[in-house]
Amino acid sequence: MSLSTARDPVTAIHDQVLPSGEGWTHELRPGQVLRLVDLEGNQAADTLFFHADDPAERYDAQATITGQQQIYLSTGSELRSNRGRVLATIVADTCGRHDTLGGACSCEANAVRYGLDRTFMHSCRDTFLLALARHGERTGQRLGVRDLAPNLNFFMNVPVTPEGGLTFADGVSAPGKYVEIRAELPLLAVISNCPQLNNPCNGWDPTPIRLLVWDA
Ligand SMILES: [Zn+2]
Repeated sequence: MSLSTARDPVTAIHDQVLPSGEGWTHELRPGQVLRLVDLEGNQAADTLFFHADDPAERYDAQATITGQQQIYLSTGSELRSNRGRVLATIVADTCGRHDTLGGACSCEANAVRYGLDRTFMHSCRDTFLLALARHGERTGQRLGVRDLAPNLNFFMNVPVTPEGGLTFADGVSAPGKYVEIRAELPLLAVISNCPQLNNPCNGWDPTPIRLLVWDA
């Protein structure tokens, strides 16, 4: 199911373009809505959510999947925490499908999948750690490698094959497609705009995303 909304970027309280390969952290109060826009199409936005006041509670892929009995995310999906609570709800989605299984690219995965010469290419795992470190410098809230649970991937197409395998496929997204997430609890959103060059998750051409936030 996809659903668009009439939220006007002019009324957003936050509006920025995040280049590929860069990280972003932002706190959302309950009721605030975050929109991610896939500006040029076929761009994966790797995302983590934490409870802003108690980051030991965070997005949990297993709780989310079992809660909705569905591996893909779209309008109406409730993003659940490791304590079973609803952290956020997807309230609009013009793309139609988002991934819960593919995880984040890392130097280890790059080496295993694509060769040792790819080990030190940029990766979402490194971007997450850098973004969390910068967040810690600003706020004193220290989050690091032990806080990297399996993430979700907006706009990324990771279909499950009939044999039960996972494939990175060409994107289901397109220029201007967007998804909106409403915070149900105080949230820390952490995004890595994926720099991956070795598979089709970014169409072999990582591109910027736009991030907007509206008040409740
Ligand atoms: Zn990545």
